[in-house]
Parts: sequence; C-alpha cells; structure tokens
Amino acid sequence: MTADASRVVLVINAGSSSLKYQLIDLESGAARTGGGIQQIGEPSSRVGDHEEALRLAFAQLAEAGVDLTSCGLLAVGHRVVHGGNAFYRPTLLDDARIAELEKLSELAPLHNPPAVQGIKVARKLLPDVAHIAVFDTAFFHELPAASATYAVNRDLAQRWQIRRYGFHGTSHRYVSEQAAAFVGGPAAGLNQIVLHLGNGASASAIAGGRPVDTSMGLTPLEGLVMGTRSGDVDPGVISYLWRAANMSVDKIESMLNNESGLWGLAGERDFRRLHSMIESGDGAARLAYDVFIHRLRKYIGAYLAVLGHTDVLTFTAGVGENDALVRRDALAGMGELGIVVDERRNAAAGGGARRISADDSPITVLVIPTNEELAIARDCAGLLGR
Ligand code: ADP
Repeated sequence: MTADASRVVLVINAGSSSLKYQLIDLESGAARTGGGIQQIGEPSSRVGDHEEALRLAFAQLAEAGVDLTSCGLLAVGHRVVHGGNAFYRPTLLDDARIAELEKLSELAPLHNPPAVQGIKVARKLLPDVAHIAVFDTAFFHELPAASATYAVNRDLAQRWQIRRYGFHGTSHRYVSEQAAAFVGGPAAGLNQIVLHLGNGASASAIAGGRPVDTSMGLTPLEGLVMGTRSGDVDPGVISYLWRAANMSVDKIESMLNNESGLWGLAGERDFRRLHSMIESGDGAARLAYDVFIHRLRKYIGAYLAVLGHTDVLTFTAGVGENDALVRRDALAGMGELGIVVDERRNAAAGGGARRISADDSPITVLVIPTNEELAIARDCAGLLGR
C-alpha cells in the first residue's frame, strides 16, 4: 500500500482469551479491515499468549495489504476495561502510565492484565506511534455520589477504592449520542435509558448527556443477567459458599463470572440457541430466559423512576440489536409507564438505527448498533487534536 494522506487508528481490544482489532478510517468512520484471534492460551490453541496473538494480527493486516508504517496510522487505541479512580480520560501511554495501570489489575484481575499485555507488545511492535488507552469506566466517572456509592463501611471503601465504576461506558456514550442524533436533538436535552445487551450486559440511565446510574459496579459482575455472569446476587451467597461448600474465593469468583448467568441456568449462552431450546420444551432454558427478562424489566423500571421523565430508550449490542423477542418481552405491558412498542417495527428484520416504538408512544424506543471501535478511534484523534 502506498503512502496516503488518510488518517486511520488501529483499535485493539485484548480480552482474557481473545484479541480483536480494527483499522478505523476516521474520515469515513468505517473499518478498513479487522479481525480477531480466539482461544489464546487455551490447550487446543496454537496461539500461546497475547504477544503471539498480536504478531499474528499484524501478519493478517500485512496479508490484507495494510502496511502500518505507511497507511496514515495516527495512533493505536487500546480498550482497557478498568480505569479505577486514576484514569477516566483517553490517556497517552508511556512507561510510567503503564506501571500505574498495572497496579489496577487487582481491581480487575480478569480484564486488565490482558489489556496491559497487549499494550506492551503493541508498543514493542509499533514504537513510533502514539498508544492511547480508552477506558470502559470513563463515561461513568462522574456518576452522582448517591449512585456511585455502596452503603458499606466508609473508611474501608475509601482505602480500597470501592465504588460503582460502571463499564461498557464507551458503548453507552456512543449509543446515547447516536440516539440523540436519531431523534434530532442534542444529547444534553434528553433523558435516556440505554440497554447494552451482549454477552456482557449493562443498563444505564442518562440525564441530559450525563450518566446518573448504571447497572455494573466495582466490577462488570453486578447488574443484569449475562451470558456467563450472574449479575446481582446477595453478597451473602459468597460467604455462605465459602463457609458451607468450602469453596475458595477464586473458585467462587470464577463460578460467578464463568459458570453462571444463562450458561449456569441453561447450559447455553447464545440467545439464538436458547430460543430453539425453549421451543422444544426445555424447562431450564425457559427459566433462564425468564430470569434474564425479569431482571431486565426491574432495571428498566428502576431507571424510569430514577429519571422521572424519560425521552428515549435504546437497545444495543448483539442481543439488543438482533433479538426481537427479548425486546418485546422486556417492554411488554409498559403502556402505563409510557412505553408502547410497535410489534411490526420490532419484528422487522434489518440493521441500522431504527425506531421500534409506536408513533404515539410517549417514550421513543430505538435499536442502535453500537460501535465501540469507532468511538475509541475518535477519542484517540480527539486527544491528539487531529
Ligand atoms: P460481546 O459482549 O461478546 O461483544 P455481542 O454484543 O457480540 O457480545 O453479543 C453476542 C451475543 O449476541 C450472542 O451470544 C447472542 O446471544 C446474541 N446474538 C447475536 N446475534 C443474534 C441474533 N441474530 N439473534 C439473537 N441473538 C443474537
């Protein structure tokens, strides 16, 4: 590829066993190319660690005809899950900042270490480019104290930075801005609920462009029922299992993160298959679905009350964008609360931003595809003033 004047950002999202990347063109907002490497470090995989994965990703980019040294690469944007108290803006990474980031790993042991590893390797492979971290917690940094504070011992909470941080912030911000654009008003004038329903799931309440509540907390475990995560449980469950079942804290944490949620209840986490299991009379799948929907409705009700007045409610992410049954059941019978879904619009196939509420629904209900990579790329360009 010859040198050109275009501006692109390579966005890297390194998870515990996966690494996804996209090369975003800032002019068009489109991904020039992208890909992912799964099952990193798993026994069956030929990719042993994130360094190998990133080298493989770079080789894939080269195969796709991308020369990272001459394609107009402005920055590498790294998605980092937990920013703790210290990081809540896009942050230019140097050795000192990375050392600080590493200290946060205790707060997010499942999520931050792979991101830090990805950052280190990417800096080694692309030493002359700006590397920028964009945090999933950033959007929720300014949650009101009443919503960010857990009612636990104040001194302990301060000492150990225990608060509700919130996650999926890049998505909640991007989708709420897109929703405002869709209904033709500035985000600052609207009260919104955003439901990000993917493998991980979270809800947020946003008043005039500022988040006022969100369902995830100190970690991405709190809140809605997810693919493999429990969401809300009585914290008493943890001490009870520790004492009565003799389970270690690590084991309990892993159970709540990896063996719970839809998977824990039904042995399936993909909604497409869950629906066919329900159709064929699988009682466990039915219960898992009902628990998921019940929890979701509870949060919607809570956020309608927190906001007092709501203008727009938006579904996003894999389930929110694609699963009409989930959207129907999440909002059924809420006419008196101001939500009337148009069944035909909801069931209509099609991607892109769309309205699914009836014309006379006081609250506008939308489906909007999220695009965290584009939001991260724009954050990088914004930080560099380009
Ligand atoms: P992640 O949190 O991994 O980014 P996604 O936002 O991509 O997750 O969502 C993945 C989930 O979306 C899948 O596990 C599946 O349950 C759901 N999903 C994807 N496509 C469809 C579809 N066409 N119909 C119903 N559910 C879908």
